[in-house]
Amino acid sequence: MHEWILQILRCPQCSSRFELTTFTSRDDLTVNGVLVCVAPECGSWFPVHRGVPRMLSSQLMGDFLSEFMDEHNSQMSLLGLSDFGETTQADDMSNVKLGVGLPH
Ligand SMILES: [Zn+2]
Repeated sequence: MHEWILQILRCPQCSSRFELTTFTSRDDLTVNGVLVCVAPECGSWFPVHRGVPRMLSSQLMGDFLSEFMDEHNSQMSLLGLSDFGETTQADDMSNVKLGVGLPH
């Protein structure tokens, strides 16, 4: 995957840009890595596998997603990406809602 693609890729959830974290590269090209949405409130991320960004929903990715996460387990946890973006986002939003109205 060429890094210039970052200039045109946008997050399907919130239209923000992505930040690329490369796990493995060859000839300056990202072979495996993750695209993470720059919007902190969004939290979406997508795998880059064999040089191709996989911007699909978790249902469409199926087994590929769990295999990808198993393969890159240590890097994923360093980035704090333990669940797929959509799931994390849902969790974050419910946490926000739970926090509303709590005494300070
Ligand atoms: Zn986003």
